[in-house]
Amino acid sequence: MDKIKQLQEILQNSKSIVFFGGAGVSTESGIPDFRSKDGLYNQKSDVPPEVILSHDYFINHPDKFYQYYFAKMIDLSIKPNAAHYQLAKWEKLGKVKAIVTQNIDGLHQLAGSKTVYELHGSVHRNHCMKCNKFYTSADIIKFKNKGVPRCSCGGLIKPDVVVDNVEDADCIFSDAVSAIANCDTLIVAGTSLTVYPASGLIDYFRGKNLILINRDKTERSVNTTLTINEPVGKTLAQIELK
Ligand code: ZN
Repeated sequence: MDKIKQLQEILQNSKSIVFFGGAGVSTESGIPDFRSKDGLYNQKSDVPPEVILSHDYFINHPDKFYQYYFAKMIDLSIKPNAAHYQLAKWEKLGKVKAIVTQNIDGLHQLAGSKTVYELHGSVHRNHCMKCNKFYTSADIIKFKNKGVPRCSCGGLIKPDVVVDNVEDADCIFSDAVSAIANCDTLIVAGTSLTVYPASGLIDYFRGKNLILINRDKTERSVNTTLTINEPVGKTLAQIELK
């Protein structure tokens, strides 16, 4: 059977779908895929991204952190693509119960999705480290080429993508685990499944249909109900659920 038809049938018959998305979901919106051939991890940099995003690095080198952040991580010109809009629509229908994402761009919420677990934080949440005042991504982008973003109180403004609040991260992770453990269909999309801890999340799935949608063939062998090696947005755009 045609793979799109098969996907249509599986999703139409599913009662609770969880979507687990990697960088490939955002590439169709123009965001570079961290792990792809031309992605960030392959660009020449003295410090690996996972180090730059650590709390210690941020505190000790806020200037270098923000240099990287403005150059590679925050882009407010990008818009949701068909994948984001379809998922938001299917959440309203009651079919999609949760979205778990490795992306920090907030595009799912921009498309209208409500239950979104962001494993790596969001560029849209920023707080002053001194007085805890909240800043939007639009506030932060104003500092581009003007040095380190500082609060009106003088404190350093820290984006939510900096990994330091272990308790918060644990909480989001267990929400994601519980959503995945309780759905009947899990769509894994736009990821090569190699990024820890997200890679381990699919092991919690006990439902019926595991669907993989990824432009590139993944290196990890997974027993899927259906595998589609096509872009995510292009694939989901062809599905119509009622
Ligand atoms: Zn402040």
